[in-house]
Amino acid sequence: CGVFGIYSAQPNDLAWMTYLGLFALQHRGQEAAGMCVSDGDKFHVEKDLGLVTQVFDERRLDSVRLANARVSIGHVRYSTTGSNLRFNAQPLTTRTNKGILGLAHNGNFVNALEVRAGMLQEGALFATTNDSEVMLNLIARESHMDLVEATAAAMKRLRGGYACVLMSRTQLIGFRDPHGVRPLVIGQRDDGAYVLASEPCALYAVGARLIRDVEPGELVSIDREGLHSLIVEQRPATPCSFEWIYFARSDSRLDGVDTHESRIRMGQQLAREKPVEADIVVPVPDSGIGAAIGYARESGIPFDYGLYKNPYAGRTFIAPTQEARELKVKMKLSPTSAVRGKRVILVDDSIVRGTTSRQIVNLLREAGATEVHFRVSSPPITHPCFYGIDTAARKELVASTHSVDEIRDLIGADTLAFISEGGLREAIGGPGLCSACFTGDYPAGTPLLNDVDKLA
Ligand code: 5GP
Ligand code: SF4
Ligand code: MG
Repeated sequence: CGVFGIYSAQPNDLAWMTYLGLFALQHRGQEAAGMCVSDGDKFHVEKDLGLVTQVFDERRLDSVRLANARVSIGHVRYSTTGSNLRFNAQPLTTRTNKGILGLAHNGNFVNALEVRAGMLQEGALFATTNDSEVMLNLIARESHMDLVEATAAAMKRLRGGYACVLMSRTQLIGFRDPHGVRPLVIGQRDDGAYVLASEPCALYAVGARLIRDVEPGELVSIDREGLHSLIVEQRPATPCSFEWIYFARSDSRLDGVDTHESRIRMGQQLAREKPVEADIVVPVPDSGIGAAIGYARESGIPFDYGLYKNPYAGRTFIAPTQEARELKVKMKLSPTSAVRGKRVILVDDSIVRGTTSRQIVNLLREAGATEVHFRVSSPPITHPCFYGIDTAARKELVASTHSVDEIRDLIGADTLAFISEGGLREAIGGPGLCSACFTGDYPAGTPLLNDVDKLA
């Protein structure tokens, strides 16, 4: 998911700015979009299934517009557990003794069901099974605390990988889990307005410059007096390596590491670790482009566009069924003449289920490629993500049940090789990294298996 928030002391069209911010974050979730806007008195919410431009047509955007808007938050949703339901769209809102609150959330709280079960025992009410509602409810019940204290208390109860924006009528809050698994950045416009967003591209979209990342375990609150910071709980930083491998936009810089440059380094590393003789290096667009540039640069084998990507097609992974995903690959990709009679090194960022990979190898062979050598700029994904990236359930992850050679045969490539985990760390650089989906070593814990039974 993607989150966005803005606080402006000057009169600004915050609904429009939130729309622009969400549009810049559209790659982080195409399933639903929503926003809340307040002028200190009125509090408007609109959300629905669909892309930002579909949910917010002119009429809908007008309906949340406020002439003297002061705070706004927004969300684009990417469902992790297939619950493509309208009531799961965010921001989530609730009425409390601190006034009405809106919350937009990226990531997952791994102990949300346990905490929820405990709260149900004590008489709490829940409208959804959404883990965001547990966070909002925890904040709401601390009625004797102010909003910052209550949010900090809730952060201490919930574990996981998350980045959230929260608003009241007069305050904007952003917070990031103690390991900093999910990203959140702070920006500012020349007129002083503060902006929070999952990625810097959303700051630039509203004319703000990047100030810094929210620190792991940090809570920032913005009100009339400016920006305040509170470190709630800090653990060794382990930001999600998938943000650099695949998820974040290539013009983003997260925790001091530029995504595009890191992808090039991954490709260079991959070329050093897993060289092969060939005529051209071809990316699977768009996610494989950075790594393919790096692979070509390091190997000296020319980069070429062997696959055309229809720019009007979305991200294929999002399609709910296998058949829909397969049809969407054809809708999205077709081979160019560059591959005819060539030994091709095909570079992609990841193999998840292996189904698109198989189709793409097939497309290249049909187009006359004489050899297809598949190179992947992430290690084999063997474990599910519990922190908000939909890498599929474990049984669907082809690398959890197949060896590299078996996957090579399944996808029909001549050779197949992945970057090593150490090589990936080196290419990204920076501090620690979450790489649980490659190693099973979850820095912020995993859900208890029997949690499901506690669902009331
Ligand atoms: P596969 O055919 O192996 O299931 O799909 C791998 C492709 O899915 C890669 O090209 C990757 O870019 C793309 N992809 C799209 N969305 C996601 C996602 O959320 N996680 C991962 N790991 N890969 C995704
Ligand atoms: Fe990212 Fe993988 Fe960790 Fe999930 S498990 S947060 S996808 S590195
Ligand atoms: Mg891809």
